[in-house]
Amino acid sequence: MGYARPSMMNAWRKHKGNKEPGHEGCGEIIEIGEGVKDTKFKLGVRVALLAVPGCRSESCTECSRDLPQLCSSGMRHGIGQDGFFAEYVAVNVHAAVPLPEGISPAVAAVATDAVTTAYHGITRRAEVKKEETVFLFGLGGLGFNALQIVKHIGARVIVTDLRQEKLDAALSLGIPSRDVVPAGKSVQDFVQESGLHGKIDTILDFVGKYQTFEDAQQIVRPGGKILCVGTLDRRNEIDMKIGIRKRLSIIFTYGGQQRDLVEVLDLISSKVLQPQVELGKLSDFPQALKDLGAGKIKDRIALVSDIADL
Ligand SMILES: [Zn+2]
Repeated sequence: MGYARPSMMNAWRKHKGNKEPGHEGCGEIIEIGEGVKDTKFKLGVRVALLAVPGCRSESCTECSRDLPQLCSSGMRHGIGQDGFFAEYVAVNVHAAVPLPEGISPAVAAVATDAVTTAYHGITRRAEVKKEETVFLFGLGGLGFNALQIVKHIGARVIVTDLRQEKLDAALSLGIPSRDVVPAGKSVQDFVQESGLHGKIDTILDFVGKYQTFEDAQQIVRPGGKILCVGTLDRRNEIDMKIGIRKRLSIIFTYGGQQRDLVEVLDLISSKVLQPQVELGKLSDFPQALKDLGAGKIKDRIALVSDIADL
């Protein structure tokens, strides 16, 4: 069912400890397997690539329960297996989504995880609706995409980040200053002073530190939801009394699915979402790695293969 093609783009997460050799990719179809019947896959078509498409077998406990992103039987490109930093790769049709109009391969590569994970978490796990008030912790590589997704849904969103430049970026996006927690300000104090106590329906924790998870439990309204995405601290603490008395829903999320990627690419194509990405060369990988470590790369950098024709 697979076809081989050059992997033109390889986005790389700005994330400490990320050792996977390319789990966000975009490429061009150069060969189509015999079993591929879907006519949207043609030679020369550019496709965004999902790292974990699932085996799609009815006997698979994950895929049969609509959880292909957790499947361990299918391919896991760049996650414990060779990834998209290779110049050619064979993928299953469920891993590939043709690019709509107006999307560069670099942005499409970033969309496969940095945007799709945020989208899946917000729309399918936390099920954020436009009537909600949302509190977003962290405006990094995933969090800033999350902000754009929530804004598109139409919900009010309050944001916090330690970095002033990230808060400035949120303001530039049109988030009113009353909904931006000043850098260094206590989140719990801000919520009290802003009259938001008891009004925050959903927390999106894209940081996952002890403090953010603690703040989340304190500021969320009774009956509210906390979506856990970030993992900066490996272990955090749940206050059982708060959790039970507020009857909280604490929801974890992981990755996204092909249908999420299709929707995300359409939103990018229509300029609703604009992922931040820089361009580099795959042959300059060692330098990109150093720049990443030195904090010189803002959000994401996409590394382009030397054989790519862009
Ligand atoms: Zn499976």
